[in-house]
Parts: sequence; C-alpha cells; structure tokens
Amino acid sequence: PVLLAAVVKTRIERFRETRRSTRLDGLTGLLNHTAAKSSLQRLVEQTPQGGTLTVAMIDIDHFKSINDTYGHPVGDQVIRGLAWLLKGRLRTVYLIGRYGGEEFMVALPGVALQQAAPVIERIRSDFSVLPHAHRGGALYATFSAGLACYPVVQTAAGLTEIADRALMQAKRLGRNRVETAVA
Ligand code: GH3
Ligand code: MG
Ligand code: MG
Repeated sequence: PVLLAAVVKTRIERFRETRRSTRLDGLTGLLNHTAAKSSLQRLVEQTPQGGTLTVAMIDIDHFKSINDTYGHPVGDQVIRGLAWLLKGRLRTVYLIGRYGGEEFMVALPGVALQQAAPVIERIRSDFSVLPHAHRGGALYATFSAGLACYPVVQTAAGLTEIADRALMQAKRLGRNRVETAVA
C-alpha cells in the first residue's frame, strides 16, 4: 500500500504539472489565451440571472517602440511588470489572462461596470508611473483598456468583441485611457 500510494502520488503530481503548464503562460504565469477563453466561457455560464460580470481587454501602448528602443528582453520585463501589477491588484477570484503578446484579458465576476471601471482606471494610473529598469535607467509604459459588461452583452465571444472595440476606441482617443463600450 505504501508503494502504491507513492506511485499514485507521483502520477497525480505529474498530471497536475502537465495541466498547469498547458494552461499557464510561461512568461507571466497568467492564464494563457486558450485557458482565458474557456475560463471566461465558464464564468458567463455561471453568472446567475440578474448577475453581473465585467470584462476588460488591456493592451500596452506603443509596445513595438519599447521593443525597438530597449530590446526584446526589456519588453518582456514590461509585460511581466503589468502581469505582476494585475495579479497584485485583482483578487484571485478574478480571471487574468495573457490574451496575446502584450494584450491581457481580465474578467470580474459579480462586479458591475460602475465598480469595475474605477478599479481598472486605478491600475492604469499606477502602471503609468511604474518604473521598468533598463541599462540606461528606467522607462515608463502605459496601457489602454476597453470594458464590456454582462448582461448588456450576454456571451463570452460578445463580451470579448465589445471590450476589444472599446479598446480600439481608447487607442483612437489617444491611448493611456479606459473606455467603456456602448454596446
Ligand atoms: P498600440 O499602442 O497601437 O497597441 O501599438 P503597439 O506598438 O503596442 O502595437 P503593435 O501591435 O504594433 O506591436 C505589438 C508588439 O508586441 C509587436 C510584437 O513584436 C511585440 N510582442 C509580442 N509579444 C511579445 C513578447 O512576448 N515579448 C516582447 N518583448 N514583445 C512582444
Ligand atoms: Mg499595443
Ligand atoms: Mg496588441
């Protein structure tokens, strides 16, 4: 029985590690694109009648020029810096994913747009003054964000699309700002 227990324990640990590494993004430890998408789907399904859920799509501004000016490894540090800030600010019950290169998805179940907007706005403001070290000193980066909420939009795909549209609007309006979709 002791040997059997040890074998089972090893198998379970290996299984967990495999599942972990297929769900999490290697650079940031956040949920990866696929895991973030399926988690959002699950959150939408679990939202009760009359419940709320806010989705934010976040994209670092002029990130290409950060890479071009300071190099890819410094760019990676900026991505990790934002991931660290998001993890620190948003309780573990919230979904935080690295949706693409320098794009993140956040979902706040049970949080209405009016409560979510100031939370994301505060993170935006704090990120803009967060120093990122490079060889010659420190650089500063900003992000833009778009918000969409349930039940105005009722599907995971719809929430993502509408939040993305609000993000585009934030970019058009000059970046370093949070915009809300008028669905
Ligand atoms: P915008 O303000 O409109 O978002 O401009 P942008 O420069 O941030 O957007 P663009 O899509 O032109 O550039 C994104 C860049 O992000 C291009 C790509 O090389 C870089 N990138 C994507 N993934 C990574 C990564 O993991 N590490 C680093 N360092 N760069 C990445
Ligand atoms: Mg960008
Ligand atoms: Mg982008």
